[in-house]
Amino acid sequence: MPFVIENKEFTCSVCGSSSSHDIIAEQDEFCGAPDLDLRPAGKQRSIMKYWAMECPCCGYCCTTLDMPFSGEREFFQTTDYKTCGGILTSDETAVKLMKRALVFIEEHNYRDAVRSYLAAAWALDDDGNEFAAKQSRMAAVALMDDHPAAFKNSSDYQLLKADMLRRCGEFDRVVREFEDKTYPSQLMTAIAFFEVYLASSKDQAAHPIDEIPGVTAVE
Ligand SMILES: [Zn+2]
Repeated sequence: MPFVIENKEFTCSVCGSSSSHDIIAEQDEFCGAPDLDLRPAGKQRSIMKYWAMECPCCGYCCTTLDMPFSGEREFFQTTDYKTCGGILTSDETAVKLMKRALVFIEEHNYRDAVRSYLAAAWALDDDGNEFAAKQSRMAAVALMDDHPAAFKNSSDYQLLKADMLRRCGEFDRVVREFEDKTYPSQLMTAIAFFEVYLASSKDQAAHPIDEIPGVTAVE
């Protein structure tokens, strides 16, 4: 069993109402190498539905509902929030993760917003919704483009961006932006080199990280 689920009561920090949600109580098994964008492998991917919860009363979405929200409650009534910024899907996990991304943006927390959009894209990949997955990845890329200060000296996020662009078919941009960059570790340099190689080959597919020559994923 890769993880143990527990049902727990949470009090919403926005509206004060209580609701019960499943959370991951234990998680310990290694199920294979993650993808280049750190998407969990195989069975571990089913944990994604526990990465965000939604308040049934006010609509607040966050990692856990007891986390404070610095914005206004009216935000959850906006069309933009209710429609996930116009990205159409009926996949509940993707909806919660995209709403969580919008919550993070409202709080100017752009780094967590990028991670949440990326996780939503994984859920949309698994749902077979290629168009919405691309929209979610490009929303994350746009956040990085619009708020460069939040991602300055963050090689890990730059590599995620390379993978998101490549998965969206933006091959020329990957080659242009990542071809001659240097990174603080050999692993990062190897990942960047591999991304540019895949983009040059017009390869849009997901690849596990241990496909890179010389890289082994360990527990
Ligand atoms: Zn609430």
